[in-house]
Amino acid sequence: MLPDALGDLLLGSRCVGCDRPGRVLCRECAATLPSGAEPAWPSPTPPGLAPPYATTAYDGLVRAMVLAHKERGVLALATPLGRLLTVAVVEALADAATGPVVLVPVPSRPASVRSRGHDPTWTMTVRAAAWLGANGFPATAMPLLRLRTGVRDQAGLDAHERSANLAGSMRCPSRTLARLAGWRSHAHVVVCDDVLTTGATAREAQRALEAVGLGVVGVAVAAATRRRGPGRESSGGFLSPQPGTV
Ligand SMILES: [Zn+2]
Repeated sequence: MLPDALGDLLLGSRCVGCDRPGRVLCRECAATLPSGAEPAWPSPTPPGLAPPYATTAYDGLVRAMVLAHKERGVLALATPLGRLLTVAVVEALADAATGPVVLVPVPSRPASVRSRGHDPTWTMTVRAAAWLGANGFPATAMPLLRLRTGVRDQAGLDAHERSANLAGSMRCPSRTLARLAGWRSHAHVVVCDDVLTTGATAREAQRALEAVGLGVVGVAVAAATRRRGPGRESSGGFLSPQPGTV
């Protein structure tokens, strides 16, 4: 069987939203993508988490785009996903003073990158930095974080297990940090990911960056999983307005 990406190339692609033959994201579906972002506090919120922003709930079209990009290697979706990430970054920076913007993707497990053949979060982050730059907001994507060995795949873990799995799992090597040079003291750092679930991954990335003296102004993601109360999905919008409010 052909890998999906190669199959798309040889046999013609279909829209991930409506399955119509043609582009991987047709114009009609692209026109329905969100153009703004909202606070996306997970519930419960990891203590100290920098303000998270997402463009939408993780379902429907955006979920299909994330999965096709990440798991099926439909690399053309990096551009529209990067644009969604950009919208969330702009919202995360809304209250920040002017200064250099550094977008830091959460690190992927090396085994995942090898098996997928690409690093979807890094690609989206690069696209977002390019999009910001083209619109007059100079930004740089920097892979500052590394995962220590022994970190399990997060899939299937609950909030408590995720945070235990991730505690102390990321680090920022000093040689990598040196690339920031003179920016270090005044850079506006935004942690970037495709999807926010419990916030444990973003919080660990934030901790590792703060441990080397970098201030994190916010967390930006394309989509956030729906907030859940005990045993049921909460009503009233997909995102909570601030931590602790239900
Ligand atoms: Zn479509």
